[in-house]
Amino acid sequence: MNWDMKSLRSRFETVFGASPTGAVRAPGRVNLIGEHTDYNGGFVLPIAIEREVRALFRARDDRTVNMVSGQSPNERAKVDLDLTISPGLPKWANYCKGVIAGLIEEGVALGGADVYFEGNVPLGGGLSSSAALEVATGMAMLSASGMSGSVPGPTLARICQKAENEYAGAPCGIMDQAISAMGKAGHAMLMDCRDGSLKQIPFNKPDLVVLVADTQVKHGIADGGYAARREQCFSAARKMNVSSLRDADEASIELSHGNGLIDDVEFMRARHVVGEVHRTLEACAALQSGDYRQFGRLMYASHYSLRDDYQVSCEELDELVRIASVTKGVYGARMTGGGFGGCAIALVDAELADSIAQALAEGFFGKFGRRCPVFATHATAGAGVLE
Ligand code: ADP
Ligand code: MG
Repeated sequence: MNWDMKSLRSRFETVFGASPTGAVRAPGRVNLIGEHTDYNGGFVLPIAIEREVRALFRARDDRTVNMVSGQSPNERAKVDLDLTISPGLPKWANYCKGVIAGLIEEGVALGGADVYFEGNVPLGGGLSSSAALEVATGMAMLSASGMSGSVPGPTLARICQKAENEYAGAPCGIMDQAISAMGKAGHAMLMDCRDGSLKQIPFNKPDLVVLVADTQVKHGIADGGYAARREQCFSAARKMNVSSLRDADEASIELSHGNGLIDDVEFMRARHVVGEVHRTLEACAALQSGDYRQFGRLMYASHYSLRDDYQVSCEELDELVRIASVTKGVYGARMTGGGFGGCAIALVDAELADSIAQALAEGFFGKFGRRCPVFATHATAGAGVLE
């Protein structure tokens, strides 16, 4: 499908019978390092990627919001701004309804609008199309109501997270919405998940790109496995009498394991979290000194810890990382996201990116007999106005 603004405008016109008056965009994301640290009060380091949801809009002079998505063209949605907004069908619009409800609750005087969405973030692929849709909705509704810029990034991110939690029923943290709303081009965003503070870290060496390889796998154990990991971490923290594993360190978890306070599984989970918090800060230091080799080594170390201690990888992700590790021009690679499937990322020489992408896709096909889409991205800007 054509993705240029002219084509998008003409689709808006076909759907709504009038021209759009504005357009906004909001990107998906990958997390470079800092996995399964968010609910332990640790750090994450996402970048906004060159895949995004665009929203074209036109203000209406009534109190109706009509929403159509190119990814679900037969399921149109409608909201009356003067009535209680509740989740329902179509499911995709619940993310948007939650954001509209959140903005109203925040006291923003929204007006009616026609909104057309189009995205190229794969749906359900772990690159956070959901956060991109939420943030694009917020930006579009604010712009259409003549209020763009009136809601600060952290507030918009919180409204979008709440929409995902309460309207889409997904208990996510705030990383995805925060990076989509507040990412900065050429930077990764260090988030301290304990106090919510953010720091933009330069990530812009021109001859490097990030490859994203999608296993297109979602293992059945994902949800249960995720909940179990959380509980094991919380249990270890309780037993060690710290409020979260952020407050533990290598010595304290070894002592607690040695004297039987935490069991073998809790020890392994805690060792990943403590190590990953440390690695994420080291990775930022490496970026700040331009040491991308070191950054790559930390990516591998993160992957092996997720595979061996946290046990959330799978053979498809391990195979992609293995291929990357024996391919020329790769600095580092790891699974990204919750695990049990989803995507792997690799930091690679831009000049060799095409051949490395091919090596990943072919190696994956050779072993599993399935396609593994791979694309390259830089750290791009968070949400903004398109025209
Ligand atoms: P992820 O965020 O990893 O892509 P989720 O399951 O959290 O996966 O979110 C995917 C859902 O978000 C889709 O099933 C769909 O409901 C919604 N969505 C995302 N982008 C769009 C879009 N452009 N148009 C319609 N729905 C979308
Ligand atoms: Mg999502």
